[in-house]
Amino acid sequence: MKRCPTCNRAFDDNTLTVCPEDGSALTGGREVPATQIDSGLGGKATWNPSPDQLAEIQQTVAAITKPRRKTWPGVVIAIVVLLILIGLAGAIALRRL
Ligand SMILES: [Zn+2]
Repeated sequence: MKRCPTCNRAFDDNTLTVCPEDGSALTGGREVPATQIDSGLGGKATWNPSPDQLAEIQQTVAAITKPRRKTWPGVVIAIVVLLILIGLAGAIALRRL
């Protein structure tokens, strides 16, 4: 977390060195290693994901919301249901013999 002394805005991006609004040098930014950020999650509410983590999250969300293989779950379910029906029909037919 960095803070601009001029406009008093807070910035989550620790890579920022100057305020994008007025160009003042930001204060209070600690260059914290990622491991320390992770271990500090319990006490501090803010989380600064790295660009890699953000990309991974976005890929995960995209995979959940927009599955590439839209058809195969339905096909698998249809096959399973078909097999169950065939099995039930076979069992019923065998009992009636
Ligand atoms: Zn500022």
